[in-house]
Amino acid sequence: MPSSPTTSSPSRPRWRVMKFGGSSVADARNWPRIGAEAANVLASGGNALIVVSALGGITDLLESCLRAPDQFDPDTTLAEIRRRHAVLAGAVEADAGILEPLFDALREALVRVQSTNNASEAATCQSPELWAELMGFGELLSSRLGEHILRSQGLECDWLDSRELLVCSDNPQRSERAARLSAECEVAPSPDVQARLAARGRLFIAPGFIARNAAGETVLLGRGGSDISAALIGTLLDADRVEIFSDVPGLFSADPRRIPSARLLRTISYREALELAAMGARALHPRALLPLRKHRVPLWLRQTSRPEIEGTRITAEAHEHGAQVKAIVARKNITLIALEGIDMWQQVGFMADVFAVFRDHGLSVDLVSTSESNVTLTLDPGANLADQATLDRLAADLGR
Ligand code: ASP
Ligand code: MG
Repeated sequence: MPSSPTTSSPSRPRWRVMKFGGSSVADARNWPRIGAEAANVLASGGNALIVVSALGGITDLLESCLRAPDQFDPDTTLAEIRRRHAVLAGAVEADAGILEPLFDALREALVRVQSTNNASEAATCQSPELWAELMGFGELLSSRLGEHILRSQGLECDWLDSRELLVCSDNPQRSERAARLSAECEVAPSPDVQARLAARGRLFIAPGFIARNAAGETVLLGRGGSDISAALIGTLLDADRVEIFSDVPGLFSADPRRIPSARLLRTISYREALELAAMGARALHPRALLPLRKHRVPLWLRQTSRPEIEGTRITAEAHEHGAQVKAIVARKNITLIALEGIDMWQQVGFMADVFAVFRDHGLSVDLVSTSESNVTLTLDPGANLADQATLDRLAADLGR
């Protein structure tokens, strides 16, 4: 029998990966839509894997405990997190009681964070292990509750621990903290993983943001990292596409809140999307694009509450039309460094010397503009954890 492109045989399942962000999963009205998207994939013969963020605000709340371990009370924090999940569960008529074992473990972790406060002078919790463990709870809770909600809709959905799929490599050049809290993961399409998963079921829901290291310990993919989880899993499963659902339909030619006439970009290349995401478009984490581009997995951006809008499609087939302004993005809180009154005219190697100073201070430069008498550079605060002291030392070295 000739195989049609819309059905998958058990040996070669066709996977779709769909990621729903924190504000999407926190809104009860979206769960029937999430269920419907999954049901559509199943009805067309495909398999689906849903990746979820924590309910909006939960990761921030957990982070605030780690940043000020002497200023929170474990029971008050737990009560707030419990309340947020109970509100969602109540609104979809699900029972949040299934989360109790996780709440117990969360309380225990909160108590440990609080007690690190006595052990050290520092204001922030110093243990990267505890950071990773505590911050990961938001996604464990949302994905477990999501499994329960989708099952109550009659879908045969199983929870999947993304730490089973995503194993991060240990890069000895990175700090222990970076390796734990913004871990890097290399993946390639794996027929083995695809077949193993297909043998277990056709619909899964998995926590975003968390992965494991070679020792099997929990690590994080960095703030906003659930997009990266979806991209990595989509690559492993060689998905027909990855879809990232959020409260905006995609990438725009400008920020629509500032420029009402901004247009939604319908199709765009990986390279253009990477540039926009890295320079401030918030619909997408830039690092999510790297594995997708490398393995040519398409990425569609869509709006959860308005699934009828086509959104933005990022594919290898998208044409770049030569020199053209496709979009304008703006970023706030960047550090700008201007070297004034220099005389570069016909000098050789001046820029090499300037960049060597940035390299020596471990600072990554984003944008550069130069003329014969001025060099202006920007530093990305996300990539550079530069405090005032580092900047002062940099300025002194540049002054030379
Ligand atoms: N919950 C995590 C964060 O807020 C990851 C994510 O939502 O993408 O950073
Ligand atoms: Mg996000």
